[in-house]
Amino acid sequence: MGSVIESLHQQLVNKEISCEALVKGKLDALKASDYNASNYILDDYALDLAKKVDAKIAKGERIGLLEGIPFGVKDVYLLQGTYSSASSDFLRKYNSPYTATAIQKLLDAGAIPVAKENCDSFGHGSSSENTVFGPVKNALDKGKVAGGSSGGSAVNVAKDFTTFSIGGDTGGSIRQPAGYNAIYGLKPTYGKISRFGLMAYASSTDCVGPIAQELDDIRIVLNTMSGKDVKDQTTFASEAIAEEAVSTGLAKGTKIGYYKNFIETEALDPAMKKQFKDMLAKLEAEGMEIVPLDFFDADILVATYYALAMAETASNLARLDGTNYGVREEGESLKEGYSVTRSENFTAETQRRIVGGNQVLSQGHSEEIYNKALALRAQISHHFDEDFKNVDLILSPVTPNPVPEIGNNLKDPMTMYLSDAYTVGFSLGGLPTLTAPLALETGVQITAAKRQEAKLFSCANFLKQVL
Ligand code: GLN
Repeated sequence: MGSVIESLHQQLVNKEISCEALVKGKLDALKASDYNASNYILDDYALDLAKKVDAKIAKGERIGLLEGIPFGVKDVYLLQGTYSSASSDFLRKYNSPYTATAIQKLLDAGAIPVAKENCDSFGHGSSSENTVFGPVKNALDKGKVAGGSSGGSAVNVAKDFTTFSIGGDTGGSIRQPAGYNAIYGLKPTYGKISRFGLMAYASSTDCVGPIAQELDDIRIVLNTMSGKDVKDQTTFASEAIAEEAVSTGLAKGTKIGYYKNFIETEALDPAMKKQFKDMLAKLEAEGMEIVPLDFFDADILVATYYALAMAETASNLARLDGTNYGVREEGESLKEGYSVTRSENFTAETQRRIVGGNQVLSQGHSEEIYNKALALRAQISHHFDEDFKNVDLILSPVTPNPVPEIGNNLKDPMTMYLSDAYTVGFSLGGLPTLTAPLALETGVQITAAKRQEAKLFSCANFLKQVL
């Protein structure tokens, strides 16, 4: 089983490479890069840690599997000693007062953060163009978008500037950029990894997750970050996923579902439709049972997701008014000061979402929009519960279309929102779902019932073998 982490670990233990050289190599590559993938490069911070790892090795002490492994952090996680900007002017010089639980667990395991990574501001976007640090460029084609919102994290991994990166996924922000840059990206079951220290976008669907070139590295990093955290009441205790989950395939007769309306639609690119059907045919030939399923229209999923996500982000970002966090502009009155601070330091897309969210929540509209979206969400979740009584896994495209050129999304937010059609439903259901860089141009999305991450690994490995 391929694992970059494992192979670097062996090289460190065998003294074939020093940790300082490994980390310096990544830092130099990050600095020389023109992909706009990193907001801050953590030079001294990372080199100090690398020297400590080398000292341990020199003394003959044992080092853990993740010790000395360089990784990237989406710039929406707090990491004490670094700025956490959320790719906004608001927080450009905001010093992290503490470290997010998920990142702390990686630090405790000895992994070394080398960059805070560019993303759509506060997670608002699907292309990593909604950022004050310049649009992130796709790792495979610089004229195209990186995807978003965790675009910088995906590009750094795809270019090998980081061994793995930690993204955040509210409605597809790990899976979609992973697909656009042809690597693996996992959104775990909601609550499997603590959100403490992740800047909240839509708290009810926000998830922490790993991005990596190899499936086994996704597993290693997931196991390290998972678990109950008293600082996030939605977390639950979970068992580590064994290596066998990755190396075993799927038993004959495994029931693989797909949503007919996701595939039999004009909205799906014809070449990608064919790639998806070819994949199903191969799986059938391998003895899998393919089960067509009915589902909600993609438009309903997108509308439900955006009504709730905007409402939640409007509430979450109300705390940014110039008083406690980031910049403060003065006005004639306190109220005007708030207003100037917020209008000058949020991007246009973030302002659109705050205005939309407050509208959704306002008196007279909330019953019609917010409560309706909550009711629909309950129906969507129930639908998933029923589907997973009949199938083991659900496969779908990650996106309806190939990777867009830089510049197009900004002109038309509606088209951008619709590009999330295949990812947002699974977020509303809190399900574990993985992008594998296989079969389709922007990857295939593998989804299982809650807490069934192990099945995603077996399926991805199987697909890799048979496609
Ligand atoms: N593109 C989606 C949005 O803008 C998802 C973003 C995310 O997962 N953070 O809401």
